[in-house]
Amino acid sequence: MYEACIGLEIHVELDTKTKAFCSCSVAFGSEPNTNVCPVCMGLPGALPVLNKKAVEYAVMLGLAMGCKINPRSQHARKNYFYPDLPKGYQISQDAVPICVKGFVDMGGGIRINRIHIEEDAGKLVHGGVETLIDYNRAGVPLLEIVTEPDMRSAEEAKAFLDYIKNTLLSLGISKCRMQEGNLRCDVNVSVRKKGEDRLNERCEIKNVNSFSGAVRSIEYEIKRQTELLCKGEAVLRETRKWDDEKRQSILLRKKEEENDYRYFPEPDLPPVEVDEAWLKEIKEKMPELFYEKALRFRKDYGLGDYEAKTIAENKDAAELLDDAVKEDADAGLCAKLILGDISRLVNEKGTRVPFSGHSLAELSGLLKRKEISYTAAGKILELMFESGEEPSVIARENNLLQQSDEDALIKVVMKVIEENEKSVSDYKKGKKNALGFLVGRCMRETGGSGNPHIINEMLTKILEVEE
Ligand SMILES: [Zn+2]
Repeated sequence: MYEACIGLEIHVELDTKTKAFCSCSVAFGSEPNTNVCPVCMGLPGALPVLNKKAVEYAVMLGLAMGCKINPRSQHARKNYFYPDLPKGYQISQDAVPICVKGFVDMGGGIRINRIHIEEDAGKLVHGGVETLIDYNRAGVPLLEIVTEPDMRSAEEAKAFLDYIKNTLLSLGISKCRMQEGNLRCDVNVSVRKKGEDRLNERCEIKNVNSFSGAVRSIEYEIKRQTELLCKGEAVLRETRKWDDEKRQSILLRKKEEENDYRYFPEPDLPPVEVDEAWLKEIKEKMPELFYEKALRFRKDYGLGDYEAKTIAENKDAAELLDDAVKEDADAGLCAKLILGDISRLVNEKGTRVPFSGHSLAELSGLLKRKEISYTAAGKILELMFESGEEPSVIARENNLLQQSDEDALIKVVMKVIEENEKSVSDYKKGKKNALGFLVGRCMRETGGSGNPHIINEMLTKILEVEE
């Protein structure tokens, strides 16, 4: 039997205001070549200045992934020629990256080799017979996360990518929009006999632009390499390119054609220093991470594993829940509404939740006091998405409040008992489901607005007493 050893190199575009080494905007979708200046265009004599925010974000991610933060890291030039790289080199980090030796506790444990800061390249726009270049992206700050080959299956890799995305969103340091290229990854795959310690030659797969694409490319590569090994052939070290449409990888270059980037320390940038005081300051402002949030929802709110995890992974949902609970709402009821009708409406309408935790607290209060039914809550939510009106107002205006007035209800109950002698005697003979029929009759009498719990209680009490 064979097993796969999978490592990931994930590139994250940071959500800073300006680029990594100049003050140009990083805004996505601007007119081509408008967010550029002599520094990011690599004009002679222009000098880079490191974006402090990018360093802060790198340290935050490093801390979240259990890394050691190097007090002094160094930028380096990675030299290669490509039209989207105006300087002829990319400013990256090589020998001394800012974060090293992290660990993520999932599966059998995934070691993080390093996280470093670098700049993005421009973008080639292929159209018809010509290729145009947009340099707006040149110089946008990136973090590259490099893992050890500790994942054993495509599913594990996918789970890790989700973990990274949720961590980035919790920290608020990247928009994580795949369609805008905020998250990209290269995949390293090798296959070996189960039980072996040694790693075989690996293939690097480039150009993976979605998480589902990563899963497909890994599955494809494991199959390709396993087949070679079964036939007694060697797997050669290669760089391959993933074509998600054709669902296959194609050879880009072999080991002997690998680039030599001739890294050397960037002479225009001093080392990056993160001293104790700055590190402490960053630690103090680290937001709560999604898994910490899930733990708190379980412990403090008494939610189940699935509920806690699902809500914690969605920033809006988690905020809504926290805000509602701050107003003394029942956390379990709110969670049920969030994962039920609210999620459904968010998906259907393609919007964010248009009301506050205060409104959710009010709605859950109506439910808890049995002033409305679950069905009514769904209707009220639908109207809240449309009008933004408060739930109690909507309930009143649309006649969705349950009648709980006992004097009015007792009259209905007595009337139903008189008119349905057969069901009453059935119930007394032990046919307990006759009660459901009687409750239904009462509900019909009230036009659906009677509180079924109160009606149920009244019926039971009266029928038992008449015994
Ligand atoms: Zn610039």
